Amino acid sequence: MATIFSKIIRGEIPSYKIYEDEKYFAFLDINPLAEGHTLVIPKDETDYIFDLSDEILSGLSVCVKRIALAIEKTVPCKRVGIAVLGLEVPHAHVHLIPLKTEGDINFSKPKLKLSQDEFRSIAASIRKNLELK
Ligand code: AMP
Repeated sequence: MATIFSKIIRGEIPSYKIYEDEKYFAFLDINPLAEGHTLVIPKDETDYIFDLSDEILSGLSVCVKRIALAIEKTVPCKRVGIAVLGLEVPHAHVHLIPLKTEGDINFSKPKLKLSQDEFRSIAASIRKNLELK
């Protein structure tokens, strides 16, 4: 069965899209730890990140870096943290989280509640900073 992330890639489920190319897709996490919390995924539907081919995994890293730098330009933060869990959705993904303190990357803390307009505005700003690169 297709994962929820494959459905997002196909546009069957809406998302706040940040980036897409032939192999990768990025969108805002719907339950963010911080404003700008983004997920970057390979389109290839593989559960465990370390089961990805070397080629897809290295391409994912390059894509992650580009998007992290755009997030850093958009959201006031000290740096962008990176995490891989995959305990909830069985489709490899990298979390990018703007950090001010170590606690900002604590997945046990309550998630932010943002309005649709807030999500849209953050996504648009990150996309703009990606284009400027
Ligand atoms: P994990 O698999 O443990 O890395 O967690 C999956 C992440 O995907 C969580 O942070 C969820 O908030 C996020 N997530 C689940 N469904 C959606 C969705 N439809 N749109 C955006 N993010 C989602």
